[in-house]
Amino acid sequence: MDFICSECLDNNKALSKYINDNGFDDTCYYCNNSTKVIQKVEILELIETSIYSEWDAAENVLGRMDGDWVGETFLTSEILRDFMGLGEVEIFQEIDDYLPDNAWCWKDPYGISDSELMIYSWEDFCGHIKYKSRFFFQDEITTSSMQIYPSTATGVLRNVCNEILDLDIITNIPKSTKIFRVRPCAIKDNFKTTEDLGVPPNEAIKYPNRFSPSGIQTFHGANDIDTCLQETNKPEHAIISTWETTTQIKVLDFTEDFHLVKNSEIKYNDFPDILEPERRHLRHTIRFLEALADDFIKPIVHDGREHIDYIPTQVAAEFFRKNLLTFEDDIPIDGIKYYSSKTGGINYVFFYTPENCDTGPHQKLKLIKVKKYNRPV
Ligand SMILES: [Zn+2]
Repeated sequence: MDFICSECLDNNKALSKYINDNGFDDTCYYCNNSTKVIQKVEILELIETSIYSEWDAAENVLGRMDGDWVGETFLTSEILRDFMGLGEVEIFQEIDDYLPDNAWCWKDPYGISDSELMIYSWEDFCGHIKYKSRFFFQDEITTSSMQIYPSTATGVLRNVCNEILDLDIITNIPKSTKIFRVRPCAIKDNFKTTEDLGVPPNEAIKYPNRFSPSGIQTFHGANDIDTCLQETNKPEHAIISTWETTTQIKVLDFTEDFHLVKNSEIKYNDFPDILEPERRHLRHTIRFLEALADDFIKPIVHDGREHIDYIPTQVAAEFFRKNLLTFEDDIPIDGIKYYSSKTGGINYVFFYTPENCDTGPHQKLKLIKVKKYNRPV
């Protein structure tokens, strides 16, 4: 029997995991080591099904013109090397020989892949909502790519909500977690109350932000005071308030399973490999969430256009506010947790109203400390 070990597969992460989960102790045919091994044919079959998850034989789908394929094609060796990272494995030639000797092409060569569809749909949606129709978008939106593909932006967001549950990126914030908040003010101001420092009344919300338009209430805070100050553009004078969660709350979390690259880009920590059969379908949603999270933290130039640029993230946030229900108790999430592009710290937006910041049955946050801040000269 041809048994093979992880080392002879160049310690490829996905294949090593597969051997770890499914293998047994025996002698590797290739390096003669006694170690965890698996039948080589299982690896060959896994690679073959993985190829068919994203590619197809050109002869099944591509047209020809004057003898040439109409569309992009790949050699088996290119896919193994460039897309699966298997260029250095001991049995590269055996794998290549095992697989059908096809010219390969993308599975849906004249269309777009699922992740592209999600991103194009999101971009189409952004363009539509920004420049064409602000209201009733759920019913009306049919743009170029959406006419070809039976999907609407709302459908995409709904899909994303379902897969967020699969990804398990709704996390708990325990009771008694401290959240800081800064309210810039004049030197003479001396705000003290929850009304002054918590969620403002609707009519006081004159300016839109990334997560909500003018007039819609949200609570913005951060894990540390410096992040609050940077996020409010380093005010000269401010009131710093400290809040505490009065109950465990749940947020869509763009921090725990994500990291911040150069303070401007969000990446998922454990992006699924094509060679991971159980997780590879999540690649599309993860790419979409990364793009959306980038929009959440991207600096916006305040040149009057920000009212327009905020709209797509406001719509996504509102969609999550209403439609993203937690798995266990089927209630809407409390908010979103995301990185600050200014400090790398942690920001929160909570979908709260003034009642959530005051004593009473709806309380979620308690004001525990108030302090005046003057910027050091
Ligand atoms: Zn070996």
